[in-house]
Amino acid sequence: MSKPQEPIGEFDLIDHFFKAKQKPNSGVFLGIGDDCAILNFSNNVNYGLAISTDMLVEGRHFLKDANPQLLGHKSLAVNLSDLAAMGAKPLGFTLALALPEVKPQWLSEFSTGLLNLANQYDCTLIGGDTTAGPLTISITVFGQIDRQKALLRSNAKVGDDIWVSHEVGDARLALGAIRQEWPLTQKTQNLVEKRMHAPTPRIELGLELGDIAHAAIDISDGLLGDLSHILRQSQVCASIEMDSVPVSDSLNNQTPELRRLCALNGGDDYEICFTAPPSSYDAIQSLSKKLHLKLTPIGKIRPLTQNTESLIELIDHNGKTLTTELAKPYLKSFDHFK
Ligand code: ADP
Ligand code: MG
Repeated sequence: MSKPQEPIGEFDLIDHFFKAKQKPNSGVFLGIGDDCAILNFSNNVNYGLAISTDMLVEGRHFLKDANPQLLGHKSLAVNLSDLAAMGAKPLGFTLALALPEVKPQWLSEFSTGLLNLANQYDCTLIGGDTTAGPLTISITVFGQIDRQKALLRSNAKVGDDIWVSHEVGDARLALGAIRQEWPLTQKTQNLVEKRMHAPTPRIELGLELGDIAHAAIDISDGLLGDLSHILRQSQVCASIEMDSVPVSDSLNNQTPELRRLCALNGGDDYEICFTAPPSSYDAIQSLSKKLHLKLTPIGKIRPLTQNTESLIELIDHNGKTLTTELAKPYLKSFDHFK
């Protein structure tokens, strides 16, 4: 009897059916596999065009009857976040919309949320497509990037510190309460839902990190899962001090288990996880002050070791490494098909 097959995941699917079938192209500086692709500008040796697409589908990425203004904001914010994670400056975007019906009030609020954010970052709507169908919002953003400074997932170095912007886990805390996985007070619910529905793309941070950091990713699927993309592509390991991961007061007031689960494993925060050499420590502290944005070191990049089961070692507040069994629940990350 043949063995039951493992379900094919999102990333294997992309590699196997799409990435593997392409021939190399010298106009493509960076292809599939990072937060953005980078195309070369033919007339400029230093700059490239950073491009990223993200799609939001009703019932999967947002709930039916979601607030249209917040949805407009979030649709663009998640795309801008990929530019931020690359260190690119936003230029423009296209919008492909499938709408079940034309509701002027809904469109008015949606476009307000979308374009307020676009105007804030000088990111111009340059085209798109509109069709009837189940509510789906697909945005492609374009940004300018100095290719030498691009924050590639493949560029983390042994000895780097691992940093996280602001706080993580609130979006997962909010989602769990909506799904009735755990209760929250109304006040906490309101606070964390705001973080879930209106993420802030860290564009200014990404632009400044080009000179001082090595690798970066935005946290869309969960801190440890997204960090592991950096580790795999850079061929390194990491140790994470799990209780130094920055969280909000709302999350800090939950049980230690729930706090750790949301902070380490929860997606949809759109903060930036980056790696930088210890020599950048002071520059990062100054940047944090300048941007009024909390930046916290949470661990270290380590050499790749063959005999560990996971690329990430979790260290508790006593300095003890968690056993594989205890670490397991935190090392799962979100995959649409697994
Ligand atoms: P992100 O979370 O930053 O949006 P993902 O982890 O979802 O990126 O995707 C990983 C990589 O696979 C990215 O480089 C993305 O552009 C690419 N990718 C995703 N879906 C497809 C597809 N259908 N065809 C080609 N490339 C894809
Ligand atoms: Mg990303």
